[in-house]
Amino acid sequence: MATGNTTNVTLDQEINPWEAQSARFDFAARKLNLDEGLWKVLRSPSREVIVHFPVALDNGMIDMFTGFRVQHSMARGPCKGGIRYAPDVTLDEVRALASWMTWKCAVVNIPFGGAKGGVICDPHSMSKGELERMTRRYTSEIIEFIGPEKDIPAPDVGTDEQTMAWIMDTYSMHMRKTVTSVVTGKPLNIGGSHGRIEATGRGVMVVCIESLRHLGMDVEGCRVIIQGFGNVGSNAARLMHEQGFKIVGVAERDGGLYNSGGIDIHQLLEYKYRNNTILGFRGAEAMPSEELLLADCEILIPAATENVITSRNADKVKARIIVEGANGPTTAVADEILSEKRIFIVPDILANAGGVTASYFEWVQDRQGFFWKEAILNEQLEGILRDSFDDVVRYADAHDVNNRIAAYMLAIDRVAYTIKQRGFYA
Ligand code: NAD
Repeated sequence: MATGNTTNVTLDQEINPWEAQSARFDFAARKLNLDEGLWKVLRSPSREVIVHFPVALDNGMIDMFTGFRVQHSMARGPCKGGIRYAPDVTLDEVRALASWMTWKCAVVNIPFGGAKGGVICDPHSMSKGELERMTRRYTSEIIEFIGPEKDIPAPDVGTDEQTMAWIMDTYSMHMRKTVTSVVTGKPLNIGGSHGRIEATGRGVMVVCIESLRHLGMDVEGCRVIIQGFGNVGSNAARLMHEQGFKIVGVAERDGGLYNSGGIDIHQLLEYKYRNNTILGFRGAEAMPSEELLLADCEILIPAATENVITSRNADKVKARIIVEGANGPTTAVADEILSEKRIFIVPDILANAGGVTASYFEWVQDRQGFFWKEAILNEQLEGILRDSFDDVVRYADAHDVNNRIAAYMLAIDRVAYTIKQRGFYA
């Protein structure tokens, strides 16, 4: 099943995340017979904020930084979405990530809309002091647009719980009171939630187990290759290793590892913690990361970054199942190739929704001032992911579409229904 007319696109268009999002959105909207007006409303973000702001560097110089906050939809509740710090952040990327958040929250049926933020910077070359000053100034530049009932940021690539603590503190100073629920992914002692750090990886594990069940396959002997050994990839690897999956490959930016007998993930985690790289680990052989994506396995989990499965390599993928831990790892053109190969894909807006689901629980706990035990969060999280997986595969069967289009259709239908019920303010 194709995702639309994607045959004549250039590679630049193919890897533009906004184009990728729009291609899937248009295809799903057409399948849904979406009302033309609602199509226009949902196709574009409702607010895009661009800020240029100064930061004092450690060497005494002032540098200018550019940041974005895009709010795609707040129809179903406050906007929700991470903040990314990276040198190659673009408005189109943030736009795409914001709309994916709308669809993701709707797929798992939590009461949020979608947003995303980003600052063009290289966080790895900045000192802690520079990062703190940049974060605080960026927060103050977008302060009127965020808040517990407006838009709730969270960590993404290049940001972490320390970044969230600075945003929370800056916002609280301006409000003259402590407002923990303005961000999620915070440290535990200032309103963070048990289970949040590993929640995205846990969700990935749940949908892997559900995929096997759906396809009549077993966990035992199931070979898994994971790209990205950061928050999502390493937590998914550890939890799946503990469940009996055989993690045969791990690919990182600087190289990969392969062991057909399975990698001991606890030892690899310890090795990475000590050496800050997976390279040189003795429990596996070195293998180039690009080769690992194409190696033999039952489940491939791209959990690093966008556009790693494209028209250039999709026909060589050998996995039976792809579970998208990262946002946007597969281009729309690659989707068509993978569909023809009948590879079962669990799309990003379902596969990595464990993170935003746990963020929702963190926001609820902050607002209640009552904190849950980790087991309760995990149980609630796993229940939501299992139900959402069932919803998506049932929708796919009923409408004869692949899982990605089914997830988009389900999400668009839920958001469109809410907008129709609310009506238009004129
Ligand atoms: P992270 O920065 O913790 O980890 C990313 C890892 O991928 C790093 O170890 C990095 O070295 C590696 N990497 C980067 N580019 C690579 C490449 N080309 N090949 C191989 N490895 C590469 O980030 P994260 O939080 O784990 O996020 C990963 C992806 O998951 C992103 O797309 C993010 O948007 C998405 N995501 C994250 C969460 C979350 O809760 N952290 C939730 C939903 C989606």
